[in-house]
Amino acid sequence: MDDLIDVFNEDDTRRGRMLVAVGHRMPWAIGVIAALEVPYYLQAENPLFGLVQLATVVPVLIGIFHISFARLCIRCLSQIPRDGAQRAVRHGWLLRLYHRQLGLKAWLILLVVMAATPVVLAAVGLPRWLGVPVDVYWYAWLMSLWVHHRLRLWCPGCDDGDGGWIEEPSPDPSRVHVR
Ligand SMILES: [Zn+2]
Ligand SMILES: [Zn+2]
Repeated sequence: MDDLIDVFNEDDTRRGRMLVAVGHRMPWAIGVIAALEVPYYLQAENPLFGLVQLATVVPVLIGIFHISFARLCIRCLSQIPRDGAQRAVRHGWLLRLYHRQLGLKAWLILLVVMAATPVVLAAVGLPRWLGVPVDVYWYAWLMSLWVHHRLRLWCPGCDDGDGGWIEEPSPDPSRVHVR
């Protein structure tokens, strides 16, 4: 694990810079993977779409590792919005979703629902698109990882130390994090 953390914190190697560049493509990669679900729902899937989706998982994974293991890189810092407090309010539902989905129980429920939905729909002869809400939830959660990464300074859910949610206005980071 230490090796992995080191790899994602190499600021001055080509590999480190490449991981940063690829990891920062995560939001786009999530969009591509989600968009390529559409042919599946329309029963018009193509093996090529599946291959592209598989390849696009790589930047998503690197992005998750970047968020989880790397220090805030220069790009991360440059992407912290000036109006973070307002954005944290606006994207409060995503920050909430991020925290709600962190526990093991939530993960197990999600995995079971994601695995069972297509099987059940096929078994009872219902159209695939009825599973869209499950996918929307999944992609929204993936996106919440990135949004939370950028807005964590203002995230009310990070403030009580146990991942819970505080029903208070987002704090002003200049008051909270500067002594
Ligand atoms: Zn970064
Ligand atoms: Zn948080």
